Amino acid sequence: MVGRVLIDCPETGEQVFAGMILDEAAFAAGIADVQRVRCEACGQIHTWSQDDAILEKLTPDQHRFRLRRRLVR
Ligand SMILES: [Zn+2]
Repeated sequence: MVGRVLIDCPETGEQVFAGMILDEAAFAAGIADVQRVRCEACGQIHTWSQDDAILEKLTPDQHRFRLRRRLVR
């Protein structure tokens, strides 16, 4: 299963596409670097890392991969 990586926009609180599409294994393995994306919701550039991100379309038992830390501004 492949899904979009999503982050929470710090301006609007919406979940937005983080510019990366991964399968579960790749997401679980970790995203090494701090990433930058132009936000679909507010148009600003946000930086994010693995801890800010979730993978779209997770089944309930996969929500353990969902990490809920604050975005690095
Ligand atoms: Zn934003």
